[in-house]
Amino acid sequence: METLEFQAEARQLLQLMVHSIYSNKDIFLRELISNASDALDKLRLAKLQDGLEADTSDLHIEIEVDAEARTLIVRDNGIGMTRDEVVELIGTIAKSGTAELLGKLKEAKESPELIGQFGVGFYSTFMVADKVTLVTHKAGTEGHGTRWESAGEGTFTIDDAPDAPVGTTITLHLRPKDEDDALYDYTDEWKIKEIVKRYSDFISFPIRKGDETLNSMKALWARPRSEVTDEEYHQFYRHISHDWTDPLEIINMKAEGTFEYEALLFIPARAPHDLFQRDARRGLQLYVKRVFIMDDSKELIPDYLRFVKGVVDAADLSLNISREILQQDRHIQMIRRRLVKKVLSTIKDLMSSSPEKYATFWREFGRAVKEGLLAEPDNHKPILEIASFATTHGSEPTTLAAYVERMKEGQEEIYFLTGESRSQVENSPHMEAFQAEGYEVLILTDPVDEVWVDVVPEFDGKKLRSIARGTVDLKKDEEEKQPEGDFGPLLGFLTEKLDERVKEVRLSHRLTTSAACLVSDADDITPALEKMYRAMGQEGPRVKRILELNPNHPLVAGLRSAHERKADDPALPDTAELLYGTALLAEGGDLDDPARFAKLLADRLAQTV
Ligand code: ADP
Repeated sequence: METLEFQAEARQLLQLMVHSIYSNKDIFLRELISNASDALDKLRLAKLQDGLEADTSDLHIEIEVDAEARTLIVRDNGIGMTRDEVVELIGTIAKSGTAELLGKLKEAKESPELIGQFGVGFYSTFMVADKVTLVTHKAGTEGHGTRWESAGEGTFTIDDAPDAPVGTTITLHLRPKDEDDALYDYTDEWKIKEIVKRYSDFISFPIRKGDETLNSMKALWARPRSEVTDEEYHQFYRHISHDWTDPLEIINMKAEGTFEYEALLFIPARAPHDLFQRDARRGLQLYVKRVFIMDDSKELIPDYLRFVKGVVDAADLSLNISREILQQDRHIQMIRRRLVKKVLSTIKDLMSSSPEKYATFWREFGRAVKEGLLAEPDNHKPILEIASFATTHGSEPTTLAAYVERMKEGQEEIYFLTGESRSQVENSPHMEAFQAEGYEVLILTDPVDEVWVDVVPEFDGKKLRSIARGTVDLKKDEEEKQPEGDFGPLLGFLTEKLDERVKEVRLSHRLTTSAACLVSDADDITPALEKMYRAMGQEGPRVKRILELNPNHPLVAGLRSAHERKADDPALPDTAELLYGTALLAEGGDLDDPARFAKLLADRLAQTV
């Protein structure tokens, strides 16, 4: 026998379980049954796909209690685990981000939302047991099985189990019942029945206790919606997603005819913590005629809808279908297109039927959904229709349709400005004339916004237009104040002096209070995008921008007179640089040589004190 230590994170999680941070302790049984059901699926699949020799004629889960000894046993004749697997799977927490979540969890104490972010799984047994024994034997391996035991403290023991049959048996040595602490008598027949019915009715293998089968085994997706309660759907959602928060929306689909399939999809109410992590699990479960084929089937749903959970049961696929074949299968591609359409239209319906749910959806998943604008040009329209954006019109996000509705007379384009934060965008000099003239501007601050705006030309026949690009010609109500004097020579002089930094220096129509701002040429990429490419390791030539000056600003007017008086004044080039640097800072840009800028500024200030 060997005594081993739990990995640090696992120990932490166990601690939380032992000190029962979660008030509903009944769920331990759901977790054990869920694991057992997975193990049975795996065994059947190993036989089907890898030709493993195994008896799968009576796959089932068995529950046994002994009130005297205060034990509860959950047994399955599934795939089982090898010794190494037991140590690896039960002794550690492999899931990324779990450690991080644990930290938060400790701070938040009793917070079901947080706990819901990871499947507590097997460890939940320690909420109700003070000792747990697991005996397992992996299908297809000769010799003895493995016995694992722990009291949920820092260590567990591992030993050989000579006569263990294929599958896994888990024995809980129950704590004394304490109903005040929601710790019920889990040897009570009725309690067991109630829990199984409540949480695990849809499990597709029989869950037996004595001669009785406790669950109906009906595949939820195959039953008409009217016959299934929300509670049943929610339990199923938990089983497949490990998210304990109820889903935001449930979608049923059924296609008949040449290619039959049924789908049951869930839109979660909350983004998982790893929504933007590359290695995160994603995809749907694939079944063929009620037989589980695989988890995480990415082929069924595009990446930008990766948060959608659920099951697709296709009637006409081969049970042996592999991931490689799946990728090329025409039927699968067709199902995927239909699912996308259905998910997008469901969200669209939510916008009118339940604006609150829609707002939650967009807050949680909008950032991911916008990636679809890059991935699926054919779906620009339906994606834009369900999108919302921050705007200068009030603090609530707006849809594009609502923006178009509010457009001023004569306004033909949808204005937006990208940036790193709302305040940065709002205070950007580019915004001045638009604010002054009462034009609404969309505030786009997600990294993905920088990219999609380049590939989406229009919405509803209205061009999407960055206000930091090209020239601006707002039809102003009042007559434009004509600048006094000729700026030609000054602009020529500055263009030459700032040649290395800017393409051109010109007068601006977009400034009301600032002296200067930088704009991109209509066809050039934006600095933010340039920065992103650079961060991804793609070097390219620096794209020069255009410096625009506000002729009505005293500084610019003064500069013009100074240049007129003495074109070779040695202070003028420094002023030009300061002007450029200030424009760059105002939009949140980075100076090439901050130290030099600081010195120029300090010297200049010194002359004024
Ligand atoms: P999760 O089920 O969320 O992955 P658990 O802690 O419940 O987390 O289980 C960890 C792993 O241990 C499972 O993913 C599975 O590989 C293995 N496991 C648990 N129970 C069984 C079982 N009854 N039969 C076979 N393997 C199991």
